[in-house]
Amino acid sequence: MTASAWTEAPSTPFPNDPLTQNESCDLAIVGGGILGLCSGLHAAREGLSVRIVDAASVGDRASGLNGGQVIAGFKYDPGWLVAHFGEKRGAALAQFGASTPDAVFDLIAREKLDVPRQASGWIQAAHSDVAMRAIEQRAKQWIAYGVPAKILNVAEVTRLTGARGYLGGWHDPRGGAIQPFAYTRELARIAVAAGVRIAEHTRITRLNRENSAWVLQTADGKSLRAKSVIIATNAYADGLVPGLARTLLPLHSFQIATEPLSDEVLSTILPEGQVVSDSRRIVVYYRKGPNGRMLLGGRGSMAEPTDPKAWSHLEHALKRLYPALADVAIEKRWYGRVAMTLDHLPHVHEPEPGLIIAAGCQGRGVGLMTALGPRLVDYLASRDAERIPFPITPIRPIPFHAFRNIGISAAIAWYRLVDMLER
Ligand SMILES: Cc1cc2nc3c(=O)[nH]c(=O)nc-3n(C[C@H](O)[C@H](O)[C@H](O)COP(=O)(O)OP(=O)(O)OC[C@H]3O[C@@H](n4cnc5c(N)ncnc54)[C@H](O)[C@@H]3O)c2cc1C
Repeated sequence: MTASAWTEAPSTPFPNDPLTQNESCDLAIVGGGILGLCSGLHAAREGLSVRIVDAASVGDRASGLNGGQVIAGFKYDPGWLVAHFGEKRGAALAQFGASTPDAVFDLIAREKLDVPRQASGWIQAAHSDVAMRAIEQRAKQWIAYGVPAKILNVAEVTRLTGARGYLGGWHDPRGGAIQPFAYTRELARIAVAAGVRIAEHTRITRLNRENSAWVLQTADGKSLRAKSVIIATNAYADGLVPGLARTLLPLHSFQIATEPLSDEVLSTILPEGQVVSDSRRIVVYYRKGPNGRMLLGGRGSMAEPTDPKAWSHLEHALKRLYPALADVAIEKRWYGRVAMTLDHLPHVHEPEPGLIIAAGCQGRGVGLMTALGPRLVDYLASRDAERIPFPITPIRPIPFHAFRNIGISAAIAWYRLVDMLER
């Protein structure tokens, strides 16, 4: 394990504001990732006093470690959403999902955030005939929805990715790439400028309702009283909210970055700067990264990795896609947690009035959490459930959750085998 490729750039400083005594505020947010920061920023600008508390440093968890791929929508396309949730909520969900990349790119532009970015779109590349047919259906739905997406044939996907072995794909122009660590730190900077106070390295260990206030206790015995609370702990959820962690399957997403590549080699890879996910059940995703590095990510072992060999499946994938990279050195290896749910959709809960939780963004949290944060705050202020596109559901722990690692490891091994055999 090394530091991520993103932390090579100098990180935006902002003042850490530890809880040194008992305090009160209007809104307490547990978790200083993209969701916590976007919620806090919006709430502070609406005039609330806001405290964000994070067990780690801002940017040290998923929001700062991720692949920086900005992808519209969810696993499901508009037709499925309408069929499943009905005309009104289904259409609202499709519209919300479609809007999430704009939420990121507009925020960066509006706030003049110092975040490297490229809105060149997302390519989903097909590894099999079956996958290509599914991709065509998906692209057609979004084209009918008004998105200027394009179905790619073999020659087009090969030209745009520079990769070997795909049978086609689709290009969704809404997506793109950002530098996620810079994005997260810049969000913290503007949140603080708006009045949010952020306490890093502060774990909340208890949460109780006392009369009309929520009381959050830190691991070192301080308390924070708040009128409302947003739990933005996502895949890093612990026992703070009973049952919450057991509603999620926290998978490990591993990433590698090559040594800096020559301009000649770089010009043959993703020449127009798109980001790519492939259609395998065990997805690999890749893009060009900082300092001329190539980045590739995918599922990793459920155990904490202790040896560089834990990333070797990603090195094989990179070299299979780009034989020209066969001899390049892999200089960075890192990983983080992604929260999956059984229904493959993010979940929003409000176990008691004024305590709101959002989790489970299935590896699409960059756009999703940027767009969702302000909606949660608007909902808390207005109590208008239509502000939140997802249904607010009870916390329902997954049965046999204690055995999740065994089940997930077996499923990953099985799906890898099917992916390998399929063509
Ligand atoms: C390696 C990797 C690659 C990914 N690639 C992409 C991608 O390319 N595109 C994309 O859209 N998404 C991607 N994702 C997913 C994306 O990063 C997440 O969905 C998103 O960052 C979630 O943001 P968040 O604010 O909800 O949670 P997080 O950023 O995970 O923040 C949660 C925070 O809660 C804190 N916390 C937890 N418990 C407590 C507690 N008790 N007290 C105080 N603090 C607590 C944690 O310290 C953490 O900082 C990837 C994720 C990983 C790990």
